[in-house]
Amino acid sequence: MYDLVIKGGFVLDPLQDINEVMDVAISGGKIVDVLRGVNIEGAKHVVDGSGLLVTPGLVDIHVHCSYNVAHLSVDPEFSCLAKGSTTVLDAGTTGHLNFLGFRKYVIDRCRTRILALLNIESLGMIEAHHKEEWPKLITDYEELFINIQETLEVIRAHQDIIVGIKWAHHTPKGLSLARKAADEAKCVLMAENHYEPETVKCLKKGDIVTHTFHAHKPSLKRSPHDGLLDEEGNVQHEFYDAIKRGVILDVGHGAGSFSWHVAEKAFEQGIKPDTISTDLHMGSFNGPAFDMPTTMSKFLVLGMPLYDVVKASTITPAKVLGKQDEIGNLQPGASADLALFKLEEGKFVFTDVYEDRRVGRQRLNIRRVIRGGEIII
Ligand SMILES: [Zn+2]
Repeated sequence: MYDLVIKGGFVLDPLQDINEVMDVAISGGKIVDVLRGVNIEGAKHVVDGSGLLVTPGLVDIHVHCSYNVAHLSVDPEFSCLAKGSTTVLDAGTTGHLNFLGFRKYVIDRCRTRILALLNIESLGMIEAHHKEEWPKLITDYEELFINIQETLEVIRAHQDIIVGIKWAHHTPKGLSLARKAADEAKCVLMAENHYEPETVKCLKKGDIVTHTFHAHKPSLKRSPHDGLLDEEGNVQHEFYDAIKRGVILDVGHGAGSFSWHVAEKAFEQGIKPDTISTDLHMGSFNGPAFDMPTTMSKFLVLGMPLYDVVKASTITPAKVLGKQDEIGNLQPGASADLALFKLEEGKFVFTDVYEDRRVGRQRLNIRRVIRGGEIII
């Protein structure tokens, strides 16, 4: 007797290496069985999965969803959960001074599972307002608004939600303080892909470099090689060293951080993302990132196999968060979080942040989302 059965879908669960038509049985908000021919007699609900791709609920490890607390944030229920992301990691939208509001008014009220990185800056990203030019308020000051002790205290008080620290939008001085705080808290550090190769050299096993495939021009404020590639278009060797150390390469598409040219150059040289993420915020959710299915589809265009795309959007990010027993997979006992897609065939145009276009033959289109055994859409 099950609460819910997803019948006859094409199940793709990289953790268990399942890649075939199966039924998924759910009870008490957990996965109970993944096998052929589940007996649906007496099941409370049956969802017809035929013709659909069934994956674990997506785990998007770079979003901004401190909705109505910080201007740049999207509503996680519509922009993430309804698009298949049953778990998201808010990437430092708030700092130690305003995290509590995020928790109380958003995280604790949402059906989306929200984890967070605490910004090393005390107020997070409140400076990022869609009506203003990008930040003059905090980041141009020599004196940063950072308090390591207070940051550590908030991390300790919210260990169930906060998994690490984010460094973004400011100078290398902030990075060294973020490194210090992450070491003291023994947590993950996520850094933006700027001031390279110095930034990636600071990262340790399990840390994350995000915006891997941006093509920002070097500026006076940043190093001559601002991102992944050097002036000749070669991957800077420090990135290979980082991969060997176990540093995670994350997409973080956003409004300014995904270039077809850079991604193609990277793929040619054997560099692929460990984790696919959207960097969803007010400036990216109406395009060019849109949502996880669109961002994942772009990696199909780059020639990444569907299996690897799903892996980089489910179990790998779940492991980065240390939550692989609970999410990112369909093993019995895991949370019953699932995404059901139509894998459409045709000609689809995908645009990067520079309005450069590529045509893909496949597109992931979300059809159903289940979170903790509850049918969301
Ligand atoms: Zn971001």
